[in-house]
Amino acid sequence: MSINPLVGIGMTSQRTRDRMVARLKTQGIENTALLAVMRSLPRHMFVDEALASRAYEDTALPIGHGQTISQPYSVAKMTEILLAKQPKSILEIGTGSGYQTAVLSQLVERVYSVERIEPLQKQARERFYQLKYNNIRLKYSDGSWGWPEYGPYEGIIVTCAPETVPAPLIEQLAVGGRLVIPVGGDKQSLRVIERSHSGVEEQVLDPVSFVPLLPGQI
Ligand code: SAH
Repeated sequence: MSINPLVGIGMTSQRTRDRMVARLKTQGIENTALLAVMRSLPRHMFVDEALASRAYEDTALPIGHGQTISQPYSVAKMTEILLAKQPKSILEIGTGSGYQTAVLSQLVERVYSVERIEPLQKQARERFYQLKYNNIRLKYSDGSWGWPEYGPYEGIIVTCAPETVPAPLIEQLAVGGRLVIPVGGDKQSLRVIERSHSGVEEQVLDPVSFVPLLPGQI
């Protein structure tokens, strides 16, 4: 047994990541590029040191400020849904720990991510810098308004749940693009909204449990 817990994590993280990916496959995740990224990306860097040994469990974990890093299955499922449309640019609402952002950044050309809690955004920015991920742009703002400046986006992912889909997000979705979003209060479901020339189509998928989308910035 090592005295420094992080040494132990360094040695075992590849094995636990392999196990996480094996589990994702049994849960139905098929995209090989996505599975390869999740096999190599150090998820333990996105949680507190004290929780690092639990980083590869299939569970959401606290990241401070009452927020959570999404469970690996949710990250994989939502990313797989977005990648089906081969997007070049993706807008994310709810940077949080930055793990979902990091996964996306290894699979598409550019990721834009909005967060309303400044200290979380700062921590995420430091992680991207350490990992040398330089195709990510961050904005400190209320993501209900999206990020019009760089839109329209071929993919939009929301990692917090509004009661109803914010209209600006649909407006900033490119034709042929997909918006993946948990919607609801006590009872939430994952929705996939597709934009075509003739309009907008919505599909309701599984029940999910995300932290709420909240207004304003702190
Ligand atoms: N993808 C993140 C999820 C973090 S939890 C991860 O895996 O770490 C969801 C995040 O959405 C929280 O950080 C929360 O602060 C943020 N959030 C909630 N409402 C928001 C809003 N209106 N605009 C931007 N971010 C918001």
